[in-house]
Amino acid sequence: MSTRPSPTTDALFRRALQHIEDWEQSWGAFDRHDALGVDPDRLDSVFDEYLERLEGNYPFHHPRYAGQMLKPPHPVACAAYAAAQRINPNNHALDGGPPTSHMETEVVADLAGMLGLPEASLGHLTGGGTVANLEALWVARELYPDQALAVAENAHYTHGRMSDVLDVEVVPVSADARGRMDLHSLEQTLEQGGIGTVVLTAGTTGLGAVDPIHDALPLCRAHDARVHVDAAYGGFFRLLTEDAAPKIEGFPAERFRAIEDADSVAIDPHKHGLQPYGCGCILFRDPAVGRFYQHDSPYTYFTSDDLHLGEISLECSRAGAAAGALWCTLKALPLAPDDGLGPILAACVRAARTWTDAVADTDALRVVAPPETDIVSYVPATPEASLSAVHEASQALFDAAMNDPDAPIFTSVYRLSADALTTLDPSLRADRDEAAVLRSVLMKPEHETYAADLVDRLATTAQSLDSAAT
Ligand SMILES: *Cc1c(COP(=O)(O)O)cnc(C)c1O
Repeated sequence: MSTRPSPTTDALFRRALQHIEDWEQSWGAFDRHDALGVDPDRLDSVFDEYLERLEGNYPFHHPRYAGQMLKPPHPVACAAYAAAQRINPNNHALDGGPPTSHMETEVVADLAGMLGLPEASLGHLTGGGTVANLEALWVARELYPDQALAVAENAHYTHGRMSDVLDVEVVPVSADARGRMDLHSLEQTLEQGGIGTVVLTAGTTGLGAVDPIHDALPLCRAHDARVHVDAAYGGFFRLLTEDAAPKIEGFPAERFRAIEDADSVAIDPHKHGLQPYGCGCILFRDPAVGRFYQHDSPYTYFTSDDLHLGEISLECSRAGAAAGALWCTLKALPLAPDDGLGPILAACVRAARTWTDAVADTDALRVVAPPETDIVSYVPATPEASLSAVHEASQALFDAAMNDPDAPIFTSVYRLSADALTTLDPSLRADRDEAAVLRSVLMKPEHETYAADLVDRLATTAQSLDSAAT
């Protein structure tokens, strides 16, 4: 059996930067302008200060960080990014960075293929999920100028905000207690008429819940509504719907599979694609929507008649390094169910199951809702079955775990409505409108190894808080 050593960022960085330095030298030596010089003492002290200030971050790379959506970029991505960043190509126009522009076209086709979209789909990378979704909503508005957007209440807040920017009316659709769009509410909304586009979410930012895309699509089609899937967080999980992927109990494969029938999809390689920030992607099933982007620029597009990425993007300058890093990563760790990205995502989904089982095994913690992807929700067990008791105990455990001097554990706090919480746990008395619960995003495959131990430590901390209170 072949072994696969984890590459170190250090070795890859040195190789990448040496190569680029040699390439630069091959163009001939020249003198840098004096004005670019920096006083060595000042440089030393400013760098000291900078590096020290960076220590103010939470340890995002460590399994003990199980809080917000932050995934360490892969060493391959970091080194590939650094190499291209040194050259600083701009993927706005082909002559701003021919190699990374071609790489962008290739990775965008790979992403479309993974999502099951047709080969002819049109797409490009973006600065992130916000711009990707903005472009989808903008195209939707161009196609259905006087129609509203139906958006579930648990969709990312960016849809509301961008609808304001675009001056498009939003009709809210309710969600069930676990945060998935309610089909009955969707049907009622569609029947009232005036809906041009429905936004579905494949992996909510809150609890990683997946809207019933497979059941919503036929409803939308029956009412001639366009479908945009916001898969910024969850798009890569579609790999796990393939036969060769590891089977995982409770994984909503059917809903992820249905993404292939969407009209547009947003997906963030900087969430689950192992990329540094600045890498989102928008994909359109019908390449003819490219006509909405049409414009002519007197100063940019002069090298060829080939497609320029700037012609199909709302953003102008974009880091070619982002495309290069994603290209290199997906060559080293392919978009496959049983190699590269697939096993990494499967480990995250299994980590969430392990975490949930471990919570269920302790007396000190309780599961709020079983995870669909890799985000878990749980609360400390409280003597009193009320929302305010749950709220205070969750806040207290969040603080105590994070401030543990020996081995801090970082979780996050999520607010659930009284309706949702009492539906999930009918024994709770609703003495508040909403309550904090603990939420952990298990985006690192190492979480699979450490989940049970981390839950044990949280349970111990919860117990000590509980006995201190009584
Ligand atoms: C993160 C996220 C966004 C916003 O994307 P950014 O990359 O942060 O701009 C939109 N939708 C969903 C579902 C997300 O998880």
